[in-house]
Formats: sequence, C-alpha cells, structure tokens
Amino acid sequence: MGIALMIGAGGVASVVAHKCCQHPEVFEELWIASRTLSKCEALKEQLKDGITKVSTAQVDADNTEEVIALINKVKPDIVINVALPYQDLTIMEACLATKVDYLDTANYEPLDTAKFEYKWQWAYKERFEKAGITAVLGCGFDPGVTGVFSAYALKHYFDEIHTIDILDANAGDHGYPFATNFNPEINIREITANGSYFENGEFIETEPLTIKRVYNFPEIGEKDMYLLHHEEMESLAINMPGIKKIRFFMTFSERYLTHLRVLENVGMTSIEPIDYEGHKIVPLQFLKAILPDPASLGPRTKGKTNIGCIYTGVKDGKEVSYYVYNVCDHEECYREVGSQAISYTTGVPAMIGAMMVLTGQWKKPGVYNVEEFNPDPFMEELNKCGLPWKESFAPDMVE
Ligand code: NDP
Repeated sequence: MGIALMIGAGGVASVVAHKCCQHPEVFEELWIASRTLSKCEALKEQLKDGITKVSTAQVDADNTEEVIALINKVKPDIVINVALPYQDLTIMEACLATKVDYLDTANYEPLDTAKFEYKWQWAYKERFEKAGITAVLGCGFDPGVTGVFSAYALKHYFDEIHTIDILDANAGDHGYPFATNFNPEINIREITANGSYFENGEFIETEPLTIKRVYNFPEIGEKDMYLLHHEEMESLAINMPGIKKIRFFMTFSERYLTHLRVLENVGMTSIEPIDYEGHKIVPLQFLKAILPDPASLGPRTKGKTNIGCIYTGVKDGKEVSYYVYNVCDHEECYREVGSQAISYTTGVPAMIGAMMVLTGQWKKPGVYNVEEFNPDPFMEELNKCGLPWKESFAPDMVE
C-alpha cells in the first residue's frame, strides 16, 4: 500500500520498524534513515526475514535540505519522525517542500529551553492544509494513545468530559541503580521542569515533583506518582469541549528521585552549556553519554507498565466516571521485538498512526493532534497490535 520513511534508529524506531514489518500489506517498503548509518543497518539486519522491503540511509535531520534530498530519492507516502524533538520542524519543512504526510511522537523542542508545547508545530497548520498533506502530532502513548482514549471516551460515553487524570505507571525494574527508560536528555528535561495542571481555563504551574499521590494501579499495585507537565494537556484543553481540569501523573520510585535530586543539585541536569577544558559541553548531554543506553535495558527489564486515563463528566444528564488503560509487560515486549515496554508502548502507536494515514482513515490536510481523528479504527488496532486496553466504569479516583 505504501512506502514509509522512518527517521531515527533508536529505541522507539526499533519497535516502529518491527511493527511495520508485521504489516507488509500496509508497509510495502520501509526506509530507516538516521544520523548514524551503522545503527540503521543493525536494525535492518534484525528485520531481514520479513516481507516488507527494508532499506537504509544516512541523514542529518537537522538539515532540511538533506531531508528533502532523501525524500526525493525515496518518494515515501509518509515520514515517521522518531528522531528527537529537536528535528520536528526541519522534518516538517521537508515534508512541506515535497508534499509528503508527516507523523511524530513528541512536540518540537528548542535546544536551549525545555518547553513541551505545541505552538511551533501548530503554526504550520495553514501551510499543511494548503499543501494538501496531513501532519499527525504526538502519536506515541503519552502523548498519543492518551489522546485517542480521550476521543474514544468522548465519542462513546460522554456528552461532556469535565476532568481527565492521565496516569503513567512503570513498575519495571532494570536492575541498575539509575537509568532512564527513553532518551535520558528528553526524559530528565521533562521531569525536572516545573509541573503544571489545567484548571478552569488556565494552566497552573507547580514546583517540580511537589504534588504526590498514591494510586493502586490494576495489575501493578500501589505506586507513588507525581504531577508533571505533559504536552497532551495543552491540546486536550483545547480539543475536549467543556473540560474543566486535566492532570498528568507519572510514577517514580524513591530511589530514582534520590538519584535525580543529587544529579540536579550538582548541576548535571542543566541544559546550559559550560566550559570544560576549552570545550563547551551541556551537562545533561554529558550525563546522557554516561548513563545506560535505554536500548540496552530491554533484556534486563522485568515487570509491567500501566498507562491510562480516568475521565469524569456527564452523559444524558447523569454523572459518569470511566477509566481506560493498557497494561504492558516488559519481558513480553522484549521477546516479541527486542525492546522494553517504554519503547514498545511508543513505537506501536506510531506504527498504527502511520497505518491510519496510509489507509486513508486519518488523512486530512492540516496539522492535528491525535484526538482530532476518529479513534475507533485506532482503538481496534491497539487490541490487535500488542497494546490491548481495558475499561472500568467504577475506577478508584485520584484525590
Ligand atoms: P533515542 O535517543 O533512542 O533515538 C533517537 C534517534 O534519533 C537516534 O537513532 C539518533 O541517532 C537519531 N537522531 C538524533 N538526532 C538526529 C539527527 N539530527 N538526524 C538524524 N537522526 C537523528 O530516542 P528514543 O527512541 O527513546 O525516542 C525517540 C522519540 O520518541 C523522542 O522524540 C522521544 O521524545 C519520543 N518519545 C515519545 C513518547 C510518547 O509516548 N509519546 C515516549 C518515549 C519517547 P544517533 O544514534 O546517531 O544519535
């Protein structure tokens, strides 16, 4: 049915590639392009027994012209951006220049400030509309499936959703004293930034990791979780009519937070460049270089993740509460695609999003967050593609 050009060859990209190759009827051809060609080739080697034709290329996606040249060579039907958030705008520019559909899993981030907001990418809406091409933003799990869950809840169970609590729990254990489950730089930027939640039309900022709750997660048990800012709150605040409050919580162990506090206190999480022996280095990028590579956690991680959303609102004048979540097992993911559940829960939705665009189900010119599309075919594919979801109409509520 189509040719996908995937940019990036890291933890998430590996899952996207494996999952695309499980659907050769949609992904006839897959190009893996990234900064380091050897990583693309190593990934291709893992995929060699599939039907999908896999090719590799080297590209510096910070350079729009290079991406344009690659697109012109490959002639893809969609570009799946699973490089880093810093490359979103250069890749979107290249898609505009070549009139090719675009999908990513994380909002654009300027290198020097941690923002986690969509304004730069939303600014492309009109140009994408005029070019007749579709951009799907934030199509991982959170953001991504959390937005699809929200659209599904609104479509089937509510006239109006008033509150959303997004709960992201990872009960996995990789056996290291400290490691991050995905790109350390992006992960630590996210956690050390101020928290925020949406209430009555505005975002209220909180000091990092100051609001803590304990929640008893299905299939995982009781976990400490902390309120964070998270990018999908920005789009859900706009796209969910009648919404009054949105919060995002992520679980962290005391051990993880103690390491993080020490690293922060000594300045290792800073994104301000410093002089070191005549070179400029960014402490957080240096920290990334010495921490375990998230891709190496796969074989060692045991336990499960549980990510989902609790909604309250009204249907036919009656109050409704609804919880929809996925539980994913790190070891099962590793057995299937050689990655742990964090990469898996991001890569599978990115593949499904690309499938939605290629099959025409999510094709509409412009720039959209996932909750702006029909959730039903996506929800069906989640069940078929390894991320089955469960629902409950009497969930424990978060205080
Ligand atoms: P990794 O660091 O494992 O991989 C990033 C890949 O991008 C690497 O292959 C890297 O190449 C490549 N890359 C970086 N810069 C460039 C460039 N200028 N040109 C070409 N390639 C480049 O990250 P992850 O796989 O863990 O994460 C991928 C994305 O997924 C991130 O944007 C992350 O924020 C997002 N994400 C989204 C989640 C969600 O639920 N929505 C959850 C988790 C992650 P090299 O190897 O040469 O450095």
